[in-house]
Amino acid sequence: MRHIKHERFSYSDSIHLVSNAIQDFYGDYWDFEYFWEAIRDEFPHKLFKSEKETILHEYLWCISNNSSVIEDFRNSDYSQEIFVFYENTLKDFDVRIPSKIIPNFEYIERHGFCENCKSCRKLIAYVDWIQEKIDELKPNIIHSAFHVLMLNKHFLRDFHERLAEYIVRDKAHLHQLHSEFISETGKIKRMSSWPVWLKRGVFFRDKGVCTICRNPLSGDLFLGIDPDMDHIVPLDKHGSNDPSNLQILCNKCNNKKRHYSSTTSSYDIPYWNLPTGDQE
Ligand SMILES: [Zn+2]
Ligand SMILES: [Zn+2]
Repeated sequence: MRHIKHERFSYSDSIHLVSNAIQDFYGDYWDFEYFWEAIRDEFPHKLFKSEKETILHEYLWCISNNSSVIEDFRNSDYSQEIFVFYENTLKDFDVRIPSKIIPNFEYIERHGFCENCKSCRKLIAYVDWIQEKIDELKPNIIHSAFHVLMLNKHFLRDFHERLAEYIVRDKAHLHQLHSEFISETGKIKRMSSWPVWLKRGVFFRDKGVCTICRNPLSGDLFLGIDPDMDHIVPLDKHGSNDPSNLQILCNKCNNKKRHYSSTTSSYDIPYWNLPTGDQE
């Protein structure tokens, strides 16, 4: 683990973003159409070859672009709660707000937001300052949210099943432009091999156990023993090679699942209540 770069995560803002991403996914089809067009036209390579900046990252960018700090403030009527929320998000990244730019909330709360007085203008400048910082930190916030959403396997399955519907719908178009990666029937070609970073990432997320039967996969990730990488939504069912469509399975479960089903599981290993040894 020595060579792994440690990163700051913002669990304050990322959980908020993940919750919006899930709500939008299950609630609003228009957004997905818009998102799909971006994938189809700008990032089709992400469907064909696993990339570190995944389709899920793109989806989170898309969701995150639907809102802004300024709007959040406006919608909350400039309440102090929303300031506390953003303050905490910035704290996750060790960004401190200079005290001299902090407006007098109590005064604004008493006299209301008029936009013109000295206090209100200070508040506007303050919101702009936060917006700018959040924009700078956006890639980290997206990456934090990615780590949370990658744990939600049922979401990942539904997400890739929805993508598969669009792949089928636009298969002629995709095949015409990228015939080396996708067949006429809309099936994406298998990767010849998986990059090591990807195998390690998926193995680590899945904690080294088969997603379906929960048996530990023999061997150690860092000793180079390969588990079976499985497409949650199979290539035969128009799944893609995006990392968010992958999970690890044991040989037996993989042979049973094959290219028929999109079986996955919401089981995980809690880090709380881990066995203590003697007492167990
Ligand atoms: Zn005012
Ligand atoms: Zn298994």
